Amino acid sequence: MAIDRKTARNAEADMDLRVVRYPHPTLRYKSKPIRRVDSDFRALVGRMFELMYEERGIGLAANQVDLPYRFFIINLSGDPTQKDEEFVFINPEILSRKGSEEDTEGCLSLPGINAVVRRSAEIDMVAYNLKGEEIQWRLKGLFARAFQHEYDHLDGTLFIDRLTPTRRWAVADRVDDLASEYAGRVIAGSEPREEDVLRRLAELEALRV
Ligand code: ZN
Repeated sequence: MAIDRKTARNAEADMDLRVVRYPHPTLRYKSKPIRRVDSDFRALVGRMFELMYEERGIGLAANQVDLPYRFFIINLSGDPTQKDEEFVFINPEILSRKGSEEDTEGCLSLPGINAVVRRSAEIDMVAYNLKGEEIQWRLKGLFARAFQHEYDHLDGTLFIDRLTPTRRWAVADRVDDLASEYAGRVIAGSEPREEDVLRRLAELEALRV
C-alpha cells in the first residue's frame, strides 16, 4: 500500500500525545528502529518529556504514547527543572548483563499496580542520543532498572510479564479491572479499535522507519 508521506507527517505533528493504558494494542507492539531524526522528532521528544512530568513518571517509552518507534526517555529525578538528568535513548541495545536484584516497579500504563521485579543489576548498553551521537554506558542501580523497564516496552513486554507467579497472582484483580475498563472505553468509542490502531502505526512507520 502506498502511503502519503505528508499525511503521515501531519499525523505525527497533530498527534494529541497521551499515555495509553493497558491493554492498548501499541503496548504489545514491537517497535521499529528509527532512520531519521529531524526537528519534528525533537519536538515530539520534548512533548513526551512534558507528558512524563505531568504524569509523574521517571521514564516513558514510545509505545506508551502510541508511537511505533524504538526509543525512550528517562529522567530519574522526575523533575522538569533538572534538564541535565534528561536522557533520550534511540535504537538502544543491551550488550551485556551482570548480576540480578529485586525492587518495586510501577508503570504509567498500568496505574495502581506496583510489584517487585527481578532485573539485571548491571548492564552495558549502546544507543544514539538526539544529536545522533553513539553513547555506550555501563548502568547500575535505578538507572539500570529504568533502562531495562523501558527497553522491555519497545519489545511489547510489560513489567507484569516478568513477575513470579505468586506476585502476578497478587495483582491479577487490578490487571483484570484495567482490561475491563479499557474494553468499556472501546465500546463507548473513546478508545480506537485494534485495526485502527495498527493502521495508524503503519502510517507513522512509513514516515520514520
Ligand atoms: Zn512502563
